Amino acid sequence: MTNTALSVWQACLSFIKDNIKPQAYKTWFEPIKPMKLSADALTIQVPSKFFYEWLEEHYIKLLRVALVRELGKDAKLIYDVRMENAYSSKQPHTVKIPSSNRKPMYGQNISVPLEFNKRELRNPFIIPGIQKVKIESQLNPNYNFDNFIEGDANRLARSAGIAVANKPGGTSFNPLLIYGGVGLGKTHIAHAIGVEIKNKYADKTVLYISAEKFTQQYIDAVKTNSRNDFIHFYQMIDVLIIDDVQFLSGKTGTQDVFFHIFNHLHQNGKQVILTSDKAPVDMQDIEQRLLSRFKWGLSAELQAPDFETRISILQNKLFRDGVVMPDEIVEYIAKHIKSNVRELEGVLISMIAQASFNKKEFTLILTKQIVDKFVKNTNREISIDHIQKTVSKYFEIELAVLQSKTRKRHIVQARQLAMFFAKRMTKASLASIGAQIGKRDHATVLHACKTVDNLTETDKQFRKYVEDITKKLSY
Ligand code: ADP
Ligand code: MG
Repeated sequence: MTNTALSVWQACLSFIKDNIKPQAYKTWFEPIKPMKLSADALTIQVPSKFFYEWLEEHYIKLLRVALVRELGKDAKLIYDVRMENAYSSKQPHTVKIPSSNRKPMYGQNISVPLEFNKRELRNPFIIPGIQKVKIESQLNPNYNFDNFIEGDANRLARSAGIAVANKPGGTSFNPLLIYGGVGLGKTHIAHAIGVEIKNKYADKTVLYISAEKFTQQYIDAVKTNSRNDFIHFYQMIDVLIIDDVQFLSGKTGTQDVFFHIFNHLHQNGKQVILTSDKAPVDMQDIEQRLLSRFKWGLSAELQAPDFETRISILQNKLFRDGVVMPDEIVEYIAKHIKSNVRELEGVLISMIAQASFNKKEFTLILTKQIVDKFVKNTNREISIDHIQKTVSKYFEIELAVLQSKTRKRHIVQARQLAMFFAKRMTKASLASIGAQIGKRDHATVLHACKTVDNLTETDKQFRKYVEDITKKLSY
């Protein structure tokens, strides 16, 4: 019986199959096509240059043994690298890479021990104990489209997300970049897309990961010399979701590896979904070539929801938690918390907790206290004007008197306290504080701060002033 490319390759495969893990066999050997056999040389077609490099790096010894068994010690292997999805309109791009041009593939000594199966594919998300290699999606099923309330501010991002979920990799939204401020639902939509894809296409490999974790994994991979495993792992994914890509700013190594992974996925029709707290134009320290890739697909902005949407979000949450709350209270919250959905939810959670711990009704007073606390925390910066007024009121003196040139002791003290708090609670310079509190120079402000520090330590009454005013200012 004469050998054909097919028969030789099949014989090699049955040998190879017995010597490596089924998943590795499936990933790396099933896609290979035997093309041609001439004398001692077998030509095999591989799907990409990366694939060829991977084989050379990890399975060359095994291939050699298999081939020598079939074709004798002068056996040669020729790769035909086919870039299938890259430029479909052009002729298939074929490169012949004689093995002898690469590493010494067939040395004189062929009795190299077979070490290949010592080395498994390292994969950061493999579930241990399961035979088949399976990637955990890292998705949170609580973030889905059903509980993502639609409004004008998120309509584009939400519908683009749904379109991508219906046809991952099959729309022009690739990559889909969702950007917007904190707490507006970027992470929620990112998960929702993944969850929906998993519902529709159970066998697609979906992975959600924060850019931070991705970076950490990459750093570890470099440390342990498994950069190739890292790249290979990410190139196997059908739907890659990376949250908070602004985190890659300034991290050139990670950007570089992501660039390659991105290109591979994109060329192979895989879907990439990204989120960021900034629009691509505003991203700092991200390489131009990566930014330009981000712009290939669709950038959809999430804006702060309008009043009606905020009401719906609150009502939806209450409904899901089985809590009933008077309309006027829901409206009060929606009216005062405007720019962050996470805070909107935070107020609700605090209220429900307070009311149930203290067996209290939901009252407007309770609501106001909780809302104030949330608003205060976000508007930390206090104005110098507010400080002066608070101090004047505390000592029951006119603001104009506090700012005047008078040297009366209790007024000097009040003025010094105002300066001290201005220094402590604002970012204003000494000079600017002096200019605003009675047109003094920066040395006077510095002196005031030192005096207050000293008096707080030595004078009990004075310490009480500082404590009282601190409370008033942070209320
Ligand atoms: P980001 O990632 O943009 O900082 P998140 O996705 O973490 O924001 O959203 C913050 C919180 O607000 C989450 O609990 C999320 O479920 C909720 N949220 C945001 N937008 C909506 C929306 N339109 N409908 C329902 N919940 C929302
Ligand atoms: Mg987020």
